[in-house]
Amino acid sequence: MTDLTKLSLADARKGLNDKSFTALELTDAYIGAIEAANPKLNAYVATTPEKARDMARASDEKLGKGQGGPLEGIPLGIKDLFATKGVHTQAASHILDGFKPEYESTVTANLWRDGAVMLGKLNMDEFAMGSSNETSYYGPVVSPFRAEGSNANLVPGGSSGGSAAAVSAWLCAAATATDTGGSIRQPAAFTGTVGIKPTYGRASRWGTVAFASSLDQAGPIARTVEDAAMMLTSMSGFDPKDSTSVDLPVPDFAAAVERGVKGLTIGVPREYRMDGMPGEIEKLWSEGLEWLKAEGASVRDISLPHTKYALPAYYIVAPAEASSNLARYDGVKYGLRVTGKDITDLYELTRAAGFGREVKRRIMIGTYVLSAGYFDAYYVKAQKVRTLIKKDFEDAFHAGVDAILTPATPSAAFGIGDEALAADPVAMYLNDVFTVTVNMAGLPGIAVPAGKDAQGLPLGLQVIGKPFDEETLFAAARVIEKSAGGDFAPKQWW
Ligand code: GLN
Repeated sequence: MTDLTKLSLADARKGLNDKSFTALELTDAYIGAIEAANPKLNAYVATTPEKARDMARASDEKLGKGQGGPLEGIPLGIKDLFATKGVHTQAASHILDGFKPEYESTVTANLWRDGAVMLGKLNMDEFAMGSSNETSYYGPVVSPFRAEGSNANLVPGGSSGGSAAAVSAWLCAAATATDTGGSIRQPAAFTGTVGIKPTYGRASRWGTVAFASSLDQAGPIARTVEDAAMMLTSMSGFDPKDSTSVDLPVPDFAAAVERGVKGLTIGVPREYRMDGMPGEIEKLWSEGLEWLKAEGASVRDISLPHTKYALPAYYIVAPAEASSNLARYDGVKYGLRVTGKDITDLYELTRAAGFGREVKRRIMIGTYVLSAGYFDAYYVKAQKVRTLIKKDFEDAFHAGVDAILTPATPSAAFGIGDEALAADPVAMYLNDVFTVTVNMAGLPGIAVPAGKDAQGLPLGLQVIGKPFDEETLFAAARVIEKSAGGDFAPKQWW
């Protein structure tokens, strides 16, 4: 039998329907792959093989009766940020040690409703703060990719580094992820996978550990555009338990994948042509535009004048919301507790021991920008900038642009422990220069593999769309996927 883990999600689903193999066989293939690879890649922080087999058996029963859901029998990895009932949920933080929620997040509940099987929980940057998966309490994820002629370990990107590594290394058919400033799209770009952050409000945030509530959105990382579309259809939907979830019907996103881009106007934002942008990123971008043109789209230069303020404004808004959201981890309600001489001492000792350096940095910045005297100068100003960023996009869409093409990241994956990045948090923050604008404006954005750098590492392009127009993103990303035509799978060394 062919290696079942190598099938796309869509092909695996067909194979299950045709009874070419069972959900239990598919699940066992993934469990075996995880057991072999995880000691080297560290993509999973917890595995649930027994639960997976039980779910797979239930799927086989349904498939046998011809009752399978859209994802029936498909084994998935779940980012450690999603609450999974009775299963390890720690946002890769020490402060949530031992936390097993009594409830299921809406996104994962939707996936199980549609028949998916849970393989386990995926590593990530602590509380989703990071771009390299190096801030995890469980240690870094090792990318399945290596530069040509080198054995150095590279990062898979972050914060959804476990999701991206597991998907590209065939340790799950697809994965859930979340994106506050780029955490789905940047790791997807680093690992030759497809990642979409849908419009804010498309997927429920209920039961997902909060980082910055006005920016956080769940989305999938998958090996193909079609797989990502199938995942997003299941993950999305109105949820009365999340007041920011939007009551709109969820389209069958997979049906839009082959729609093409004929007649679409694609915007090329001048401000994304950053100083010092590597030639290969520039080249990739031009190629992407040519591919869209060849399929009947027209290309137009546009201006998004407030782009340069997006990253600084994000690093005020996101830490401000994080400092408030993370106030709940006090050693009393859940997770780690370090006892002290009184309750204040307990809070302080627990938080000092439980949070890592990056999380502490964010809490301090956030508390500072929200404090009396600085609130207007920083937080209120950043919110105003955010409105202007959103307006830039609205103006472009009103002027007739249907979607916008940009690079996904300013470079390919870098090394674990990169000294320049370790020494300078702001250099690390620059990873999200092309992605944060989308979160600030609440728009959908998809990263799709489009080429490779000189060392053979994957590079991605990003398509940004109008609110709730993920369908156009899938259609454009599919054109890029087809035109790029490359093989974006890693060479197996693990
Ligand atoms: N890298 C960004 C940060 O550290 C974005 C993270 C994310 O999208 N969760 O804030």
